[in-house]
Order: sequence, then C-alpha cells, then structure tokens
Amino acid sequence: MRGITRLLSLFACCTVAGICQVAAAAEQFTARQLADNIQLITGPSGNTLAAVDSDGVILIEGVPAKLADAYLAFVTKLTGTDHIKAVVNTHWHDESTGLNAKLAPKGVTIIAHANTRQWLASTIRKRGEEIIHKPTPKAQLPNKTFRDKLLVPFRGGNIELGYSFQAHTDGDIYAWFPQQNVLFTGPTVRTDAWSPVDEATNGYIGGFVDAYDSLARLVNDKTTVVPLSGAVIGKVEFDEQKAMYAKLVKEMVALLRKSRSADEVVIANPAVGLKPQWGDPSAFLDQGFRSFYGNLRDSRHLGGAMP
Ligand SMILES: [Zn+2]
Repeated sequence: MRGITRLLSLFACCTVAGICQVAAAAEQFTARQLADNIQLITGPSGNTLAAVDSDGVILIEGVPAKLADAYLAFVTKLTGTDHIKAVVNTHWHDESTGLNAKLAPKGVTIIAHANTRQWLASTIRKRGEEIIHKPTPKAQLPNKTFRDKLLVPFRGGNIELGYSFQAHTDGDIYAWFPQQNVLFTGPTVRTDAWSPVDEATNGYIGGFVDAYDSLARLVNDKTTVVPLSGAVIGKVEFDEQKAMYAKLVKEMVALLRKSRSADEVVIANPAVGLKPQWGDPSAFLDQGFRSFYGNLRDSRHLGGAMP
C-alpha cells in the first residue's frame, strides 16, 4: 500500500513538467564532506568536487551534458547557493565539459588547459575518419586557460591546477588543495575501471605512466586522493595502482619490440588477472598500444631506439 501511495505521489509530481524528472535524476548523486568547505559529489559519471568559497562555488570537474540539470540542482541543494563562480574541466570529453553550455551564459569562469580549449574548438576525428567531436560554440569554450600551472584563490589559500602532460589526452589537468591535502587526479586515475588513453587527441600510454609519477609527488600518507571515478583512495592504494600500470606498460613495450600488433596484444592480454573487478581491459590495451605508434622516437619509454 505504501508503495502505491509513493507511486501515486510520484505520478502527481511528474505532471509538473520537467521538475519531477530533475528531482528523480538528482537522486543519482550523493555527497560526502572531505574537508572544510569541500564536498565530494559522486554520480553516474564519477566524482566531482564542490569547493564552497565565501562568495560562490568552484566546481572541480563537470558531468555529461545529459546530467547537467540534475547535477546543478543537487549542488544548489547541497551548498545552499546557486552561485557557481567557476568550473574546472580536467580534459575535453563530455564527462568533464558537459556543464559548460549551461554555465557559460551565466558568466561562470570555465577553466581548462589551453589544449583542451583548442580541442573543443576543433573537429576531432578518430584515426582520421569518424568525427567524434564538432566545434563547440565560442561562447561555451573555456574562458580561462593555462599551460603549466594556475592558482585559483580559495578560502585564504589556493587551489593549484597543474598540467599532467600527455596522458589520457594532451590537455589533462589535476586539482590540488595543499591546505586540505586533497588531490583530484583528473582522468588518469580511476579506481573502478580501466582508463584508456584517447589517441585521437594525443593521449599516450608512456605519458600516462609519467602522470602517475608526477601526481605521486603530491601524495603523502594523509592525502585524500579523489579519482575521476571510483572510491577515494590513500597513498598505499595510489602507489599500488601506479606500480601496476608501470609494470603493465613495460610488458606492452616488450610486445611492441617483438613487432606485435594491437590486436595481438589484446589477445595476449598482459592485463589478465590484474583488476578483474574493472571489467574488460581490451580498450585500454588497444588504444594504449596504438598510442605508441605516434611516439616511436620516445626512447625513454621504449627502452632505446626502435629497430
Ligand atoms: Zn575522458
């Protein structure tokens, strides 16, 4: 009987156009306070942070466009304000930039790496053929970009945004809160799935390993490491994941030096047994291996000149 009442009240709610849909979708998000004024929001596409400053909210990472309304409704409810000051895009994919179209008309500062802005403004093709992105309207592009580092004032200190070089894409950035000892890793780290590199926008498996090394310099025993998706981790789990990827990529290099093809590497599956809970590693192996092809002069990762 209670179930029926609930159904009836849901139905009544849904007759108010659109509102119910947003309310129901907002239930897909959960929040947890990580530090003073920093909320971790987890939803279907993974993790974001809401850094609540005295004069508005700074969002670290976006959500896919289809979740934008529900996410923003959730943030308003959680923080008690709808004033978003800035949003940080950790790379160009929709999972990171899907709020921009909603926030740009409100004058929100959209922060990203210069390469991310460049990709968003371009037509992107996969392997020179299939179009995977059409140019974003200029008014919705990131309006504050940087190349190496950018400090964003927050609660008397700064959020440090830094470049992860050529990893998942060539525009990846992380967000580091030194006072609160919280690190949002950007797209290199997921703790619930393989994170394939996007070779269409210069993602590179060698750079992916480097990104783990440079993030490791920020991680100490008390750091809260927030991955793009999956559970928050500490130094032990971060180091374990870093070592796993380093070893796996070494094995992929060995296969490259034996002139194996990407298809053969997927079949050989050097990732077998590593993280069964993450599902099929094929895309990670395939795209990661293909990303060697554009980087064959990188003797540092490839162990000397290729034959
Ligand atoms: Zn991505």
